[in-house]
Amino acid sequence: MLTESALLLASLFIIAAACGWAFATYYPGHKKEPREQKLSANYSKGLNFLLNQQPDKALEVFLRIAEMDTETVATHFALGNLFRRRGEVDRAIRIHENLLKREELSVEHRAHAVLALGDDFMHAGLLDRAEENFLELRQFELFRETALKRLVSIYELEQEWRRAIETRRELEVGKVAGQTPVIAHYYCELAQLCIDEGKTDKARRRLRRSKQIHKDNPRAMLMRADIARDAKDYSLAIKLYRKLLERDPDFVAEVLPRLLACYEATGAAADLDKALQALARKGQKNRTAIAYAAIMDDILDYPVIKECLREYLAKNEAFREWFAAFQMSSDDIVANPDMLRRVAGILRKTSADGRMYQCNQCGYIGVHLYWKCPSCKKWDTMRPSTSFSIQT
Ligand SMILES: [Zn+2]
Repeated sequence: MLTESALLLASLFIIAAACGWAFATYYPGHKKEPREQKLSANYSKGLNFLLNQQPDKALEVFLRIAEMDTETVATHFALGNLFRRRGEVDRAIRIHENLLKREELSVEHRAHAVLALGDDFMHAGLLDRAEENFLELRQFELFRETALKRLVSIYELEQEWRRAIETRRELEVGKVAGQTPVIAHYYCELAQLCIDEGKTDKARRRLRRSKQIHKDNPRAMLMRADIARDAKDYSLAIKLYRKLLERDPDFVAEVLPRLLACYEATGAAADLDKALQALARKGQKNRTAIAYAAIMDDILDYPVIKECLREYLAKNEAFREWFAAFQMSSDDIVANPDMLRRVAGILRKTSADGRMYQCNQCGYIGVHLYWKCPSCKKWDTMRPSTSFSIQT
């Protein structure tokens, strides 16, 4: 009995064969050959093998067809892609390698086969071999942008940041938008390697380069401020953290505890209140982030923070219902330091894994601030969360 997947493959193959036939019929310069009947018989034979779940025998039939008639190329591309999508990468590789052995292949088809084979190797995790194919593909003008984008993916996976920078520069020359902000991140990656090796001066230079390329890159600002803090240059760290928050208020929840630590280290913790006032004046989004960070890091004693907490707790319906069960309002909670501390403690427990971060592109939520989203693979899309999920 035929399985669902065999039927699916067979039906996809029929579509692929139809595409191949249509391509063969309408391709410029095509001359109809008397061999079509033989081809048709071979298709039926191959299809039979597929339906009987004998893909290797089917493959042999189709590879022989490829040797006989160049007009079946489109069908072979479709079949190779089908095998790859089904995870049968070895079969896909055989099809595409076989195509590349054919001397009569047109330049465009050769480039297409190099691309398909590179994708097969990527799928199989053979990055070196995939890279070879995409480097070759880069020589074909029509596929140049595709090849460069594939190479960028490989270099990011291998953390070959220098080569990733060079490749994105080539994309930039080709007028492909959006390269600069990512290149700025690559310099941050290089800076991080220096920090890990204790080479702080070199790390600073790379961060400076990152900022030259993209001055609003929050990561470079955050890393530079952290270096100053770790070097106990607290006044510089405070200046840099505040500058970051002016440019990108999304990082309030991330930066606030670091800022407080620096103010405390300089013995000027009271100055934090002034800094917070300036932040809070800039809008509700900032006040929400201040309240969230205050709860997460148990920073509850500043007047500005209490105001932010009053607003944060009052505007959330779930909080209001929760407090009403104890016949209290958010004002009562904030006015009572012990109660406020207990409520903050309970809220922290609802976020057992600590502070959370969310991707503003795909919605991925995680406990680490990834600069490249692990889900949608976009750069600089994750931001600190500012909400708790509570059940009443
Ligand atoms: Zn994402």
